[in-house]
Amino acid sequence: MRQYPLCIERVRQRSVAAQMFGHLGRERMCTDILKAVRIELSTPVKYIKRVGERVAAGLAERGIETVEDLLYHLPFRYEDRLHPKPLAEYRVGEMASIVGEVRGTVLLRTRSAPIFEMTVGVKPPREIREARYEIRDSKDGMSGLLRPPPVLETVKCLWFHGTYLRDKFKPGQMIALYGKLDGSRSGNALGAVPGATKFKMVQPTFEILPDATATGEDAEFTMLEMGRIVPVYESLGGKTPWGAKLTSRWLRRVMWTVFRELAESGAVADETLPAVLRERLGLPARMAALEGLHFPAAGTPMTELMSARTPAHRRLIFEEFWYLELGLELKRRRLRERVGTAFATGEKVREALKQMLPFKPTAAQKRVLGEIVSDMRAARPMRRLLQGDVGSGKTIVALQAALVAIENGYQVAMMAPTEILATQHYLYARRLLSELISPTTGKPYRIALLTGSLDDRTKREVRGRIFRGEIDLAIGTHALVEEKVDFENLGLVIVDEQHRFGVQQRFKLMRKPGAGEPDVLVMTATPIPRTLALTVYGDLEVSVLDELPPGRTPIVTRRMPEERSGEVWDFVRKQVEAGRQAYIVYPVIEGDKDDQPELDFARGDENLSDYEQEAGPSAPSQDDKFKKSGKPKKGAQGKIFEKQKLRSATEMFEQLRAGEFSGLRLGMLHGRMSADDKEVAMARFKRGEVDVLVATTVIEVGVDVPNATVMVIEHAERFGLAQMHQLRGRVGRGAAKSYCVLLTGSKISREAELRLDAMVQTQNGFQLAEIDLEQRGPGEFFGTRQAGLPEFRVANLARDRDVLELAKIEAAKFVYSPDPKMDRAQIDAVWARLKQQWQRRYGLVEA
Ligand code: ADP
Ligand code: MG
Repeated sequence: MRQYPLCIERVRQRSVAAQMFGHLGRERMCTDILKAVRIELSTPVKYIKRVGERVAAGLAERGIETVEDLLYHLPFRYEDRLHPKPLAEYRVGEMASIVGEVRGTVLLRTRSAPIFEMTVGVKPPREIREARYEIRDSKDGMSGLLRPPPVLETVKCLWFHGTYLRDKFKPGQMIALYGKLDGSRSGNALGAVPGATKFKMVQPTFEILPDATATGEDAEFTMLEMGRIVPVYESLGGKTPWGAKLTSRWLRRVMWTVFRELAESGAVADETLPAVLRERLGLPARMAALEGLHFPAAGTPMTELMSARTPAHRRLIFEEFWYLELGLELKRRRLRERVGTAFATGEKVREALKQMLPFKPTAAQKRVLGEIVSDMRAARPMRRLLQGDVGSGKTIVALQAALVAIENGYQVAMMAPTEILATQHYLYARRLLSELISPTTGKPYRIALLTGSLDDRTKREVRGRIFRGEIDLAIGTHALVEEKVDFENLGLVIVDEQHRFGVQQRFKLMRKPGAGEPDVLVMTATPIPRTLALTVYGDLEVSVLDELPPGRTPIVTRRMPEERSGEVWDFVRKQVEAGRQAYIVYPVIEGDKDDQPELDFARGDENLSDYEQEAGPSAPSQDDKFKKSGKPKKGAQGKIFEKQKLRSATEMFEQLRAGEFSGLRLGMLHGRMSADDKEVAMARFKRGEVDVLVATTVIEVGVDVPNATVMVIEHAERFGLAQMHQLRGRVGRGAAKSYCVLLTGSKISREAELRLDAMVQTQNGFQLAEIDLEQRGPGEFFGTRQAGLPEFRVANLARDRDVLELAKIEAAKFVYSPDPKMDRAQIDAVWARLKQQWQRRYGLVEA
């Protein structure tokens, strides 16, 4: 950050004072001196006109420190006030941006709350007005009869608790409105022809537009508010020293000034992409792109602006992705230079694989094994992510990879996120391998389980055997990593259910002093949208198991309201009588406490946005108070938002056992039970000694009980998509037909509706993952526990997939075969910038 001499700071303050008090002569003098404070991208925001120390401090809290930071605070929507979309082209339920004229206002005192009502007249566009005019003219003599209806269409606007608006509007004022268009039932509005008002808006955001009488700054900036595509910003939260909010209007003026001063100061355009690259891809220069997004040129298509598809958007998005991919490409290149183990895959290895396979592998399994084996044969260490939907048969592929290493005389470590899963893998591996003789050594395979709950003596003993090389395949939980297990000759590490591990952890195992690094295979059953895989796991190669083993019948998924749970319990009972087992899953363990850390979506999803529109609380709906994730607020209707009572695992366990399921064998499993108790509960369910397992999401990952055919999820509206999908994946693992019932409570947000619909419609994990990513954004997708996700200022992983793909290709090109037309200085500038960005923005270590 640049230090500014104190005297200039003082001059700046004086100049502000001069402007406010109108000492013109003095002001001119000051501005002359001020020219010395050149606004550049790196200039602290406090030096921007209208900002100053206090606002700057507030902005700093939002991460905005420099002019550049501020310019990246992009509008989140736009209003076309030059060619607003005609009212006639809107349909009920759509969000609308309207420019109109205040016709009349009234404050209605109703029983529950005062309602402020306003009628806004909207002129149809000129084409329509003139078209009618022609018709009238052409019918000579009858023009009076064919007079068109009044040209002013009207919209009725309502604000609950709107007393504060009483003196704000005057008839004849021009106003810009933004909000959802509802149908007007009566068709009546103040001062409009009865029955002619098609639409109403409840609590729209509004901006009073400047008119001919505007003076001073307002007049100067009229052109920012009207007759153009106007940017709308998310409020920056703070206030100006004189108490005004940092509204869109304020931001527009500040941004406008910044661009003007940048141009005047002749600051060197800080271009961040090599010109050759920009020209080839047809991307605008950086400053032009930024300006084009704050103040779009007339004629910029609104749909492109709103969906971030303008060339200006693409340019900024590309830049972010390109630098990220450059960094990842370097990482990959460095990895290729590291030394691993080149495993051989001769006759004996093939024989070993063949004798292990209990069934015919699917085509996808064959392809993926091929990808893994070709990595293993290479001398560099393997870093591969194996993605596969629940039940796609990842474990067997992983065990095949393990055999390749073992037949080569190496040890294999396999890690799972929970004891249950580690144990399950262990039993699975034993079942497949314990009877077999290694073709290479002529001896049986030696497999060990190592988990945290083993007693210390056993743990010590197992560790000893691993250290002495007496174990070929060690399967365990985190304990394997955390408790410093030394391998004699570790060749391959398999990490199951990656998303449960911190990103850092996965590197721990790899670092091993001495010769070749082990290969690493990471498996996840959470289908990750490709964009995320390319970024978060960008340093891994990705294999996808996109085919389920044959013989699976689709799981029948149904949605039912809680009131009909009786029917569901009857159904469960019938299934149990037919010899099957069932899971019933709850969002919480006990009472209505949110005490279930595993639940990744229970919090903050009471965004009943539709409802809020209808009878929103009394938040002053001023200017740009656009609620993106409307937190429930207490108003007159505040009670509606009070938390509903959730059914919980422990309570329902008691209730069902005494009631609907009396006579059945019930088990319980939740996160607050001890590891031993969990183990026992799961083992009993697996052995078929329990008919119905009442649980929380701890059963989510990887648990395999083929005889279980029913999954009931209570309060399904509270679960995230990924989670529901995982839960559903617990059934349908055997030959019998399976069912998933989504029981829903009474209040369901729009987002929850979408999730439930998606669950009913598809069983494809990758499709669900894309929807999930779109809904929650990448941060939430992984949950807060997951570090390592880069933050983008413009790009959006759910939206900009194509740009990401392009950036990846272009990054590889730049690293391996840069365009000969690019000169050395440009290339060096890119690397210098990468180094700085990699640290600052992406926070990815070891650049
Ligand atoms: P994932 O870990 O991917 O969820 P698993 O590896 O647990 O899936 O496999 C699910 C079930 O499908 C297991 O019982 C496994 O034995 C079985 N399975 C895997 N591959 C095949 C195949 N090619 N043919 C038949 N059954 C298979
Ligand atoms: Mg698995």
